[in-house]
Amino acid sequence: MALRMSTLFLRTLREDPADAELPSHRLLVRAGYIRRVSPGIYTWLPLGLRVLRRVESIVREEMDAIGAQELLFPALLPKEPFEATGRWEEYGDNIFRLKDRKGADYLLGPTHEEMFTLTVKDLFSSYKDLPLSIYQIQTKYRDEARPRAGLLRGREFVMKDSYSFDLDEAGLDKAYQLHRDAYIRIFDRLGFHYVIVQAMAGAMGGSKSEEFLATAENGEDTYVHCPNCGFAANVEAVRVPVPDPVPYADAPAAHAEQTPGTPTIDTLVDHLNERFAREDRPWTAADTLKNVLVMLVHPDGTREPLAIGVPGDREIDEKRLGAQVEPAAVEVFGELDFAANPALVKGYIGPAALGAESSSGVRYLLDPRVVEGTRWVTGANAPGQHVIDLVAGRDFTADGTIEAAEVRAGDACPSCGHELEAARGIEMGHIFQLGRKYAEALDLKVLDQNGKLQTVIMGSYGVGVSRAVACVAEGNHDELGLVWPREISPADVHLVATGKDEEVFLASEEITRGLEAQGISVLFDDRKGVSPGVKFKDSELIGVPTIVVVGRGLATGVVEVKDRATGERREVAVGDVVAEVARIVRGGAA
Ligand code: ATP
Ligand code: MG
Repeated sequence: MALRMSTLFLRTLREDPADAELPSHRLLVRAGYIRRVSPGIYTWLPLGLRVLRRVESIVREEMDAIGAQELLFPALLPKEPFEATGRWEEYGDNIFRLKDRKGADYLLGPTHEEMFTLTVKDLFSSYKDLPLSIYQIQTKYRDEARPRAGLLRGREFVMKDSYSFDLDEAGLDKAYQLHRDAYIRIFDRLGFHYVIVQAMAGAMGGSKSEEFLATAENGEDTYVHCPNCGFAANVEAVRVPVPDPVPYADAPAAHAEQTPGTPTIDTLVDHLNERFAREDRPWTAADTLKNVLVMLVHPDGTREPLAIGVPGDREIDEKRLGAQVEPAAVEVFGELDFAANPALVKGYIGPAALGAESSSGVRYLLDPRVVEGTRWVTGANAPGQHVIDLVAGRDFTADGTIEAAEVRAGDACPSCGHELEAARGIEMGHIFQLGRKYAEALDLKVLDQNGKLQTVIMGSYGVGVSRAVACVAEGNHDELGLVWPREISPADVHLVATGKDEEVFLASEEITRGLEAQGISVLFDDRKGVSPGVKFKDSELIGVPTIVVVGRGLATGVVEVKDRATGERREVAVGDVVAEVARIVRGGAA
């Protein structure tokens, strides 16, 4: 059935929505695909729903093709399974919790590891039942701290999640590889530019883990890649190569110096170069050790101060830090926190006042570059004072190391040492080897060949289905509007009837019937009394890849076939247009 614009539940907008920063968000709202209900919560209008359904079909086809079986869990879940894995608490504010009329606790599922694990436990008991891969395409709920960019980070969103169940590591490797290959096919079909990068396994534990990032300047994730050896990783997962210790037998003794008015790294470096000039080279920020305080808030609500020592030329990367301390949340260390801990002199904090055993008792973790023998200028724990020639390992130690400093383009590749390049992306999919964490927590065991109980090993694989709609839009648009890849366009062809001439409308009806008879879906602009200019603008905004214009040319027996992506247009004899469009839709060049 053709979608007729005269009756379609659609209003395109001329103005950008006020809250939309990203092109995909702006265009999906303006072109009438989605409508905001509340932050991070959207209605799918008819055109949007068609795109979503097409993305779902691609995902479904490729999952079915690797032998995964579809099922569907409820979104409304009881608390108990999440208590068993500790996630009722770990999720903190990120889940929607509710109570039923009897006062029992429920949640809206943010992800479904527990349900998958328990259902397999419920039904299967033998190695003969494995391997098993099951999946669902389902609505998830997360009370995201920062819902963003329309569908990209929603509080209600559609995810495909699958899980594999195996008896041993070799089985898990195989399931992982099958999913990886399926994801490559899915994202190729969706028309993404993407990279596969090493990822953090995150709160879910487990080992091998990769993300599929759609390359996008506006992406929230930063990844680095090595042009020499092909290493690629989300910065969250980068492990800084640890330098060798430096000999320090000849290093001078540490000495505290007056450095008034130097609470920042820049003021300190200027002061050092003025008052303590070195002979060999000027002081730089990299000679200083910056001690940054943050407040960790654990899932049970306890607050724990944490000090992180990083070379002064690097900032703390919030996402890297967040990934390291999960499930704790990171908050700023405020004036009140300083006031509560007088051993910490803001702007002049040094290692002597840090560490579990120190006067402040604040846990102190160092960047891995601060190896034994490295020499630093750092705070002396007194206003306006710094220590020079403080040697790591000789003059101070910490409670451990942490990967929280920013990773930059030009840093050494952890794999080959070459200079890394950096870029941004949007996480579209995540595959990881979960291991036995959930199976252990929920006691999922099967009998092996020898009649012995074995804990099952699991893999977990997600695709952001609704996010994919936004992501494709983000990667496929121009100043006029959206430009859908053919596989997920809301229609195969947008047929525009222009003018007032009844002949034009009759011919358009006939072309529509002809196209439909070929199995081609048509968005038919059959509106009367709407100017050609408005219709053209709408067709460009909506972004169906092939546009057919029936208008004045009909008098001489031709219609226009336009390629939305390239803007190329040609005249085609009206009698040939169905065959011509069919050829284009089936993969022929426009
Ligand atoms: P992110 O790091 O972006 O918050 P995540 O690591 O929490 O995502 P997973 O739990 O791995 O996400 O979920 C699997 C997939 O679901 C992600 O790869 C992403 O594509 C999608 N997804 C996650 N959160 C959201 C959201 N709030 N809105 C839309 N899609 C999401
Ligand atoms: Mg993830």
